[in-house]
Amino acid sequence: MCIACLAVLQESSEAFTETKKNPTYRTSQIERRGFLLAAMSFSFLGTKANAQIPGANRINLPDTPDDGPEIPEFVTQFPGMLGGFLGLATMFQGTPVIFYDPGWISRVGGPSSPGFRFMRAHEYAHHRLSHAMRSIMALNQGNFLFGYTQEVEADCWAAETLALQGDGAAVRAGANLYANVLPPFDTQGRPGGQVRLETISRCAR
Ligand SMILES: [Zn+2]
Repeated sequence: MCIACLAVLQESSEAFTETKKNPTYRTSQIERRGFLLAAMSFSFLGTKANAQIPGANRINLPDTPDDGPEIPEFVTQFPGMLGGFLGLATMFQGTPVIFYDPGWISRVGGPSSPGFRFMRAHEYAHHRLSHAMRSIMALNQGNFLFGYTQEVEADCWAAETLALQGDGAAVRAGANLYANVLPPFDTQGRPGGQVRLETISRCAR
């Protein structure tokens, strides 16, 4: 759930810099650690309309969480390529994109499951609330990416939007997911399960 876009993007940025200095780093480190964005920066083959990103497969899902414009979505080739995180909302060549980890998709019950609908809404939220664009700009300035407040805002947007769509199952699945995978208390500057569940409960009304 873009549970740490921050760490992934910071690592990717470092990997990208390192790759330019030392080509062997690319296979030994980037593939091992699986940070997708560095590879994307080298090998974007498509257009905005039909983006092709090696190491990631486009996934076409029906309807957006909020009936707004569709955002290109991709599943990484292997589990773990997002640094252990479930999803990643980011910008690529000026285009908003979302990546998902296939292992997490299976774990939450597949792409049509309520759990996936929540995580998808959470990633959409990062774009709808312009977090991704702001984060890229912040990255360029050497500052932070998705922070505590943005994670809470994304959970709130997801819960509110899904509730408005009548998808209470997705709201409940999102709360269960957080309860199962996150520690209850905030860690490393990120909201823990308690804050996330309170947010979902408050915003889904
Ligand atoms: Zn997030």
